Amino acid sequence: MDISELQKRLAGRRIFHAYIVTGSDPEDRARAGALIARAAVCSGAGAAPCGTCRDCVKAQKGVHPDIETVRREEKGKEHTVDSIRALRARAGIMPNEAEKSVHIIEDADFMNLQAQNAMLKTLEEPPEHAVFVLLAENPLKLIPTVRSRCETVTLPPRAGETECPEAAEAIINAFGSGDDLALVRALAPVKKLDRAGLAELIGAMRARAVRSLGPKELLKLSDTLDEAEKLCAANVNAGHVSGLMLGSLCHTK
Ligand SMILES: [Zn+2]
Repeated sequence: MDISELQKRLAGRRIFHAYIVTGSDPEDRARAGALIARAAVCSGAGAAPCGTCRDCVKAQKGVHPDIETVRREEKGKEHTVDSIRALRARAGIMPNEAEKSVHIIEDADFMNLQAQNAMLKTLEEPPEHAVFVLLAENPLKLIPTVRSRCETVTLPPRAGETECPEAAEAIINAFGSGDDLALVRALAPVKKLDRAGLAELIGAMRARAVRSLGPKELLKLSDTLDEAEKLCAANVNAGHVSGLMLGSLCHTK
């Protein structure tokens, strides 16, 4: 569902046990997660969140005792199974003030497989009062059994997301999925870039890769981009840079 559909359902107090919120911008994902949380704890009348009840006010200030956000220990690290098990234990406890407790998992696509399996167990038998909100840039990194137990909310791309980040996204997605043919296609426009365009592309790829690739792929990509930057500094043309990326990111050699 899209964001307006979500708002409509929340307003009608139709709250699901589990959501995946997906979109390219982390702030947008956090905002949508916070909206679900407010609607879930709202004790006012009429459309939720009412914005004026005690629960809405506390949620708005970020001090509601029944809303928690689970973050990764560090950027680049994964959510561990211990962290998800601890979350499950907390979710089993009755809420303090609201009728529901809300558990937001930031960067849920960075749960390792063990952690995802622990999450799955939780979603299979969710406590009656608990709502889980998984924020994920790339929901395809979640196992299908987790995905199928959640309502997916897809956020629109940000206005002004320019062509270059789109090209960066296409390359990263093709590389991440191991689809070499898609990689060839995604790299084709790179040949036409000037130096400034290349620099922008490399920057966008770095930013995006951190959010959507696993550690092994990330390392490989990062090495490749280091090489590409060296070529750019040496004034090598874009065709060569594109060739280098293809040669080094291709899975079948
Ligand atoms: Zn309220």
